[in-house]
Amino acid sequence: MHIVVCVKQVPDTKIIKINPKTNTLDRRSAPAILNPYDAHAVQEAVRVRRKLGEGEISVLSMGPPQATAVIKKSIEIGADAGYLITDRAFAGADTLATSYALSKALEKISKENKIDMVICGKHAIDGDTGQVGPGMARRLDIPPVTNVIEVCEINENNKTVLVKRKLSNGYELLQVKMPCLLTVEKEVNQIEYSPLTNMINAARYEPNIWSVNDLDQVDRSQLGLKGSPTIVGKMFTPPKLEGGHMLDGTPDAQVAQLMDVLAERKELFNVK
Ligand SMILES: Cc1cc2nc3c(=O)[nH]c(=O)nc-3n(C[C@H](O)[C@H](O)[C@H](O)COP(=O)(O)OP(=O)(O)OC[C@H]3O[C@@H](n4cnc5c(N)ncnc54)[C@H](O)[C@@H]3O)c2cc1C
Repeated sequence: MHIVVCVKQVPDTKIIKINPKTNTLDRRSAPAILNPYDAHAVQEAVRVRRKLGEGEISVLSMGPPQATAVIKKSIEIGADAGYLITDRAFAGADTLATSYALSKALEKISKENKIDMVICGKHAIDGDTGQVGPGMARRLDIPPVTNVIEVCEINENNKTVLVKRKLSNGYELLQVKMPCLLTVEKEVNQIEYSPLTNMINAARYEPNIWSVNDLDQVDRSQLGLKGSPTIVGKMFTPPKLEGGHMLDGTPDAQVAQLMDVLAERKELFNVK
């Protein structure tokens, strides 16, 4: 069983600042981290391997040379190998071009070691579209399952996987043929503490670094800014909401406050 996890380096959006003049993210204001959903994706691959008693886990990232840090972090969680595709030709990519470049790298990895499952995060905390996973599945012509909260069972003989998928009003169980692509929610698992041996491996690990020339049969017009039909029309910080009333205290105290607020504003509800 060979699982490839796609991992993205993102700015820590809990601390990042927005430049008030340009309304763009000031990426230097926050440290770069492994996208938190992708950490859960790597952890899930480790859990699946443990359950099966064998398997290999590779991670793949597209980004600048510094993105090797998220590959090392993934090795620390338990991945065996890592690939970084990095090249000026990939710069300025939107989700369409990102999924094209990553799917070309997945094809190359699969030629060397057939891939049974690709796992991605539900979304990246910076771009936040959730499009890259399904985009890669479409290009590779494999079934995508989004919002996975549990990988329940893997049948290696039938080459199927049973997964639990979150819905707005419950969940559904789906049996999917492998190879397939899953995108995972944070509930899928809890990140474990890494053993010291993993940390030592991660510190010594040198990821495989590929440029565009290392990928096979790439249509360069589909890469980077050239291959990105998305145009960012405007970016702005939404204005702070005016007014509002925070309720506090015990539930009874909150009900009393709410009744006061409603009584003050009864004209809004047409109450005499
Ligand atoms: C016009 C335009 C220009 C842009 N230019 C740039 C730019 O120059 N530099 C830049 O950094 N961003 C740029 N972006 C943002 C970039 O398109 C997105 O960050 C990227 O396509 C991923 O989309 P997302 O963040 O919405 O990921 P999502 O679709 O939300 O991510 C879902 C999952 O896909 C996987 N994934 C996503 N991206 C990667 C990745 N790079 N490597 C490995 N796995 C991944 C992860 O598993 C992740 O959890 C640009 C966007 C637009 C619209």
